[in-house]
Amino acid sequence: MADAPRRQCRCLLKEAGEAEMAASIAEYVAMLDEAVRTAEVDYRARLAVCEGCDALMNGTCRLCGCYVETRAAKKGMACPMVPPRWTKIED
Ligand code: SF4
Repeated sequence: MADAPRRQCRCLLKEAGEAEMAASIAEYVAMLDEAVRTAEVDYRARLAVCEGCDALMNGTCRLCGCYVETRAAKKGMACPMVPPRWTKIED
């Protein structure tokens, strides 16, 4: 019997029914060195922007292919849109 089709949504992984992957990414983010990790307040702000973006699909940015929860977690990364919807954070 075929699996039911995956639900497509403009949402983060944790809301996409991808709990195992979301937990794995949260663990990865928690293990990032503080020198590269985005501060929590900035991380939440970046993800809020992604949640309102048409390029977000099931936790993945359709412009770059990244899981946004991973991309946003690194302060040196920026949104791939031109112009970017969020930018890298300088020290
Ligand atoms: S284009 Fe930028 S704001 Fe939109 S989902 Fe991708 S990273 Fe997030």
